[in-house]
Amino acid sequence: MYQREWETLARRELERLQLVRLRRTLSRIFAHNPFYKARFKGVDPEQLKDLRELEGWPFLNKEDLREGYPYRYACAPLQDFMRMHTSSGTTGTPIICPYTEGDIRQWGEVMARCYRAAGIGRDDVIQITPSFGLFNGGFGFHYGAEALGAMVIPIGAGRSALQLQFMRDLGTTALTAIASYPLRLMEVARGNGFDFRETKLRVGIFGAEVWSDGLRRRIEEGMGIETFDIIGMTETGGVGMGIDCSAHEGIHVWEDHYLVEIVDPITGEQLDDGREGELVVTTLTREALPLIRYRTRDITAILTRERCRCGRTSLRLDRIKGRADDMLVVKGVNFYPMQVESLILAHPEMGPDYQLILERVEGKEKVSLKIEVSQEIRPEAGRVLAQKLNDFLGFKVDLEFLPWGTLPREPGKAVRVIDRRGNR
Ligand SMILES: [Zn+2]
Repeated sequence: MYQREWETLARRELERLQLVRLRRTLSRIFAHNPFYKARFKGVDPEQLKDLRELEGWPFLNKEDLREGYPYRYACAPLQDFMRMHTSSGTTGTPIICPYTEGDIRQWGEVMARCYRAAGIGRDDVIQITPSFGLFNGGFGFHYGAEALGAMVIPIGAGRSALQLQFMRDLGTTALTAIASYPLRLMEVARGNGFDFRETKLRVGIFGAEVWSDGLRRRIEEGMGIETFDIIGMTETGGVGMGIDCSAHEGIHVWEDHYLVEIVDPITGEQLDDGREGELVVTTLTREALPLIRYRTRDITAILTRERCRCGRTSLRLDRIKGRADDMLVVKGVNFYPMQVESLILAHPEMGPDYQLILERVEGKEKVSLKIEVSQEIRPEAGRVLAQKLNDFLGFKVDLEFLPWGTLPREPGKAVRVIDRRGNR
């Protein structure tokens, strides 16, 4: 562990610390930002006695932060800002996340913990493939690696052939990436006769996208590595809010830095552990942009608050199932694209690339699925998948199998769903 004393705090101690840090965060908001403070009528940070009081406070949404462009929710003097990043994948006004010196230090600390949880240390060579720019991935991985004293290859996004060359020639042991990027690398490797088993690569840390267990297995087998699922987003201060450990029994959240709740995405009511809902995050140590009850739109559940086999005491989340905004409603059935992906990837000859297309034909909703297949598809495999989709969704999906490499490859995050139904 990177910080054993913090990562193994007994639950009572951890919650006591959370209360102290929540008070401090609120005091910071009250001292620096009257606009932000006005959301907490009747709340006195000094009088806060119980973490559960938080349940009565208003949520902060992505729209709030977007409308607050650029710094309406900031809680530090401008001259203390050292950096900014923006949230990715959205159109229109970006959400700006400023960082103080303390925020950057905090980022390095949680990222170093994530690396250690994935078994990475000073002797590792870490190839960082998320970009070093407005999107925050690259820098977070970089700060964590520096804190460990590991060797960094700060190559950033793209240039897959060079990625493979460096991986082989510089002895990369750990690869960090957006979850769909390993697929691109595997594709280029196949085309170039590159064998991952002849490299020193042993660990992958992937995140920023929803990736199914099926995809995870494909990557692990294709690269011959153990993978770790990392969470965190620009608004919460970047990648590194949590990661799964070698036990792979849920994603540890660094609870001394982040207080998490799961709420019903429609009603906002807090849900018990084990129930699936929207992840809500309160930051406990962030300075420039502290968040209270931030609705992430990510769908998951709290699996357990028991001590893990690895010794860490922080609660564990289920893998992210989808984004609340990604939920599809077709013919009255609600589902997430990842659930469809899991059914596809259960067939070794199918995928990993696919496209789910939603259309309206003569007033009726129509769903088709284009799937790349790596070899001649057996007719029974197609029938089995069609049946499984029908059982799961309750309606028929038109399947089309395409030769490998046919679907467009987008730079950045993968585009899996095309909704042409227009306004409903
Ligand atoms: Zn663990």
